[in-house]
Amino acid sequence: LTVAQNDFDFFYLVQQWPASYCDTKRSCCYPTTGKPAEDFSIHGLWPNRNDGSWPSNCDEGSSFHESEVSDLVKRMQQEWPSLACPSSDGVRFWSHEWEKHGTCSLLNQHQYFQTALDLKDKSNLLQVLKDAGIRPGKFYSLEKIKEAIQEGVGYTPFIECNVDQGGNRQLYQVYLCVDSSASDFIECPTFPHGRCGSEIEFPSFSSLHDEA
Ligand code: 5GP
Ligand code: 5GP
Repeated sequence: LTVAQNDFDFFYLVQQWPASYCDTKRSCCYPTTGKPAEDFSIHGLWPNRNDGSWPSNCDEGSSFHESEVSDLVKRMQQEWPSLACPSSDGVRFWSHEWEKHGTCSLLNQHQYFQTALDLKDKSNLLQVLKDAGIRPGKFYSLEKIKEAIQEGVGYTPFIECNVDQGGNRQLYQVYLCVDSSASDFIECPTFPHGRCGSEIEFPSFSSLHDEA
């Protein structure tokens, strides 16, 4: 008898800002299900260790089955869209996240995707930023953005930036930490590495991408 052991200490819930993803990758492709809302979307829920390392691909035999999450697919299309090219319905991205990270989570597929969706909703990042007067289309200090999230969500985020073609640093991803049973946010035991700079752009979707 083998008992599953935690090979991780906590999760990162990683949310991406779609307009920045599009600037980062030079181009992006809107999902076959339509242009995503101007809102944060999920990148993944990633098991992580306190020393900064992480397990991955923990069960080569487990592939993603849409049938196991059929009641969640509508939400996943809205809140976990894939912006990679060519345009997709998200299944490749979800499969990748499940196989690489989800199989290490000790959650089943339904729990994994539902937990990530519920935590995203609970964090309510865009509203939290708006409540602090932070809106897409302008530059803000990194400190102000972190403080707004700390205040509104209750926990300190890690902010990852990208650099657009004009050399501006942009808010790309927000990391929040979640306890190992995936029940609630916690203060991060360890933060990823990387620096943003003090003033960063919170871009809005520009019309340039509308032909994508
Ligand atoms: P990148 O090199 O683009 O930052 O990350 C590539 C991939 O490595 C991510 O999509 C994710 O799957 C994984 N990854 C990067 N950083 C971390 C981390 O700090 N923790 C975990 N669990 N995975 C990470
Ligand atoms: P990671 O390995 O970093 O968890 O996930 C990144 C992988 O998912 C890459 O292979 C990337 O091409 C793919 N991918 C598909 N759609 C998206 C998306 O909307 N955002 C990000 N960050 N990666 C995506």
